[in-house]
Amino acid sequence: MRVHVLIALFLIGIVPILFFGWEMINTYDRKATDQRKNEILNQCSSLSNLLVSQGYLTDPTISEINTELNRMAGIYDGRIIVVDSKLNILKDTFGIEDGNILISENVIKCLSGTTNISESKQDNYVELTIPITHNNTKEIIGVILMSFSNKNIHLISTMLYQKATILFITTAILILVFAFFYSGVFTKPFINLKKAIGHLTEGYMDDEVKVNGFHEIDQISNSLNQMLLRMKNLEKSRQEFVSNVSHELKTPLTSVKVLADSLLMQENVPSELYREFLVDIAEEIERENKIINDLLSLVKLDKTASEMNITSISINELLELVLKRLRPIAKKNNIELIFESFRPVIAEVDEVKLTLALSNLIENAIKYNVEDGWVRVSLNADHKYFYVKVADSGIGIPEDAQDFIFDRFYRVDKARSRGTGGTGLGLSITKNAIHMHKGAIKVYSKENEGTTFTVRVPINYIA
Ligand code: ADP
Repeated sequence: MRVHVLIALFLIGIVPILFFGWEMINTYDRKATDQRKNEILNQCSSLSNLLVSQGYLTDPTISEINTELNRMAGIYDGRIIVVDSKLNILKDTFGIEDGNILISENVIKCLSGTTNISESKQDNYVELTIPITHNNTKEIIGVILMSFSNKNIHLISTMLYQKATILFITTAILILVFAFFYSGVFTKPFINLKKAIGHLTEGYMDDEVKVNGFHEIDQISNSLNQMLLRMKNLEKSRQEFVSNVSHELKTPLTSVKVLADSLLMQENVPSELYREFLVDIAEEIERENKIINDLLSLVKLDKTASEMNITSISINELLELVLKRLRPIAKKNNIELIFESFRPVIAEVDEVKLTLALSNLIENAIKYNVEDGWVRVSLNADHKYFYVKVADSGIGIPEDAQDFIFDRFYRVDKARSRGTGGTGLGLSITKNAIHMHKGAIKVYSKENEGTTFTVRVPINYIA
């Protein structure tokens, strides 16, 4: 990452400088040459007017004009040649070609009226040919050829290039040093974060992730700490669960052992006592069986969290079936079981899981009821959810216990719950199953008056 940041910073810093520097020097060279050409072109056209007005083409001895031509050639460090329409050289400021004939492509072209500018990059000079036109007849009566050197301009550009290169190298070094340090500063919090996470992975879960740096890094370490807390809580509840499971599974076995030992230690035990103890032993085995079954249901719910077997079924029929199965238990305790359905409800649910969840609620309402009590199950729905309410006239749940009844193995009155065959797992199975349907469960209860559980489940399954 550091290398990437370094390269990025370096490129961001250096590319624009390189590009603009290059472009500026090139533009200077172009503009300066153009300006020089225009200036000379203007000078030459006023010179052409002067030559015509003074009749220089017929009398090339006019000394003022010759002086002017020499002066101008001197100013631009160039050479001026004046040619008449028959290509006779009337004046060469170098004094070499006077009286000769000049045959040049540009001069011939110029006699037909075109002004020419040609530039030789190799020799650093520019050649201009402009026609000399008669004021009245507009006839081309000659040509001014001027060549001048633009070596000076190129010299300046070359000097600028050299200076720019030195500047560029210095800046590049400075940017490189800055990029090296800044990339270090930038990547340090990430390295620290990596170290902190490595520390956690090595098993030092008690430590908090503390990384100072950018705001975003603070946020990441906060999120990590929250995740860590969640993991710690999960680990804690896992450990609690394991110790609870061992304890719960051991209790019936201990009872069986005590019962069996006490029979074995006595001699001549009457057969009634044998029977009585064996009945107790059978009860304990049955309890062990129930705990194992409930545990298996829980584990199955956890494992199949993503495997929902969703079908569209009638919730009315589901509830009627559950009630039919539980009616004998209710009857045994003389409890009235009432079912109210406000409308037929068809919903997308996992039938097995929802049956398990609702059975537990209704079974509890019967189990934790009073003699001659009642249990009222009602079903209602709106366009989005269906609602199942299980109300009973039972013993109720103390307020301080209501927060814990959905915890695994939690029982309000352990002795009573044991008497009713409770394992403390029923409500956590129910809550899991309802949550897997993206539903909600709530409890309202008052001690010695009764309890109401309300369940809300989406009619259309939300994956
Ligand atoms: P259990 O197997 O003990 O019934 P649950 O998880 O089903 O376990 O319930 C947890 C505890 O909540 C029960 O032990 C009981 O004390 C209390 N409880 C659950 N339902 C009711 C109810 N309808 N009325 C009173 N108490 C209830």
